[in-house]
Amino acid sequence: MNYLFENANVYRNGRLSEGSVSICGGVFHSGRARTSFDRIISLKGYTVFPGFADVHVHFREPGFSYKETIRTGSLAAAHGGYTAVCTMPNLNPAPDSVENLRPQLEAIRRDAAVHVIPYGTITAGEKGTVIAELEELAPYVVAFSDDGHGVQRGEIMHQAMLRAKALGKLIVAHCEDNSLLRGGYIHDGAYAAAHGHRGICSESEWGQIARDLELVRETGCGYHVCHISTKESVALIRQAKAEGLDVTCETCPHYLLLDDSMLQEDGRFKMNPPIRSKADQAALLAGVQDGTIDMIATDHAPHTIEEKSRGLAGSLMGVVGLETAFPLLYTHLVLTGKLTLERLVELMCDDPRRRFGLGGTLQEDRPADFTVFDLNAACSVDPDTFLSMGRSTPFVGWPVQGKCMLTMANGHIAYCDPAIAKELDL
Ligand SMILES: [Zn+2]
Repeated sequence: MNYLFENANVYRNGRLSEGSVSICGGVFHSGRARTSFDRIISLKGYTVFPGFADVHVHFREPGFSYKETIRTGSLAAAHGGYTAVCTMPNLNPAPDSVENLRPQLEAIRRDAAVHVIPYGTITAGEKGTVIAELEELAPYVVAFSDDGHGVQRGEIMHQAMLRAKALGKLIVAHCEDNSLLRGGYIHDGAYAAAHGHRGICSESEWGQIARDLELVRETGCGYHVCHISTKESVALIRQAKAEGLDVTCETCPHYLLLDDSMLQEDGRFKMNPPIRSKADQAALLAGVQDGTIDMIATDHAPHTIEEKSRGLAGSLMGVVGLETAFPLLYTHLVLTGKLTLERLVELMCDDPRRRFGLGGTLQEDRPADFTVFDLNAACSVDPDTFLSMGRSTPFVGWPVQGKCMLTMANGHIAYCDPAIAKELDL
């Protein structure tokens, strides 16, 4: 099927301008006669972006398909405008060898609606004691991570960095020092003190980042920090970059838009790391503005309704995010003047793709990975509209502007709003 989408506002090479997007045989291909297209669709009033890329999602298959599957997770990604996502390895089996990765690769081949690229683990079973089969995994995985757990022993991280560097792969670190957790489950701040909850101190995150940066100095390994949430983490990474270390990091929409004064006694406000203080939130926003923070990931982490129904103390950690990230950030950071739209697209697309080698731009002869938004459509966050099996989000009822109308991945329609489906005769 050959498509011509015309009269749109198109984001190309870092800026928006009026234009069209033509797709022939699944790749971008301009300069063809109008008669060669099977479908010509006007996107007047809509904006075309290269597909977003999320380097941190949990699709729960294999092992926990009652929470999410490759199919439902990738459909949720498409509904959020994403065409490439990287799946974290806290699965059963954990992908610590090619044999244990195979069930996920098969599910991806069978069911993925967008590009799904798995992580391999750093250590066997993410247990932190024996390094995984990094060399045999390398051709199949985007990078190595023990996400969900910090690697507690510095000497294990040191060895893993040496082996990852030799393979030209990144170490992607969930930084969490277990010895500092003391049973905490929300931020160790004013809300925890006022409501009698056990807190997680900021040092449990930044202390392990500081340790790892020293190991990066020694090994020269490419290193990426997951979901940073504290002001100290921002300062450490800013300094490491100034030193010239090969370091990048991500944060998530909930750390940029919430602080612990906004917590409620509800499991949908619980994730790891926790929502921190106003000062942390401000430092993260400054980090996003000045480039210290390279990308925004969602840490999309679905659980069942029951698993999220036990309040702050008893619920499992994790919230969904793929279907709300762009509308939330566009509405509450771009329309409020805190970020430009161009910077937001860099954070959600250009920079993660570059760092993780994911490809996907609106360039000639490249696979057609793009998304179309109506930036004027306004609504409020409603989990009943999600394609994810997960429903738990702290943003229920938040006003948002920006609605995904169409997402195409690898030249195939991965998500389509009914209004466009009609025009496409789908
Ligand atoms: Zn994590």
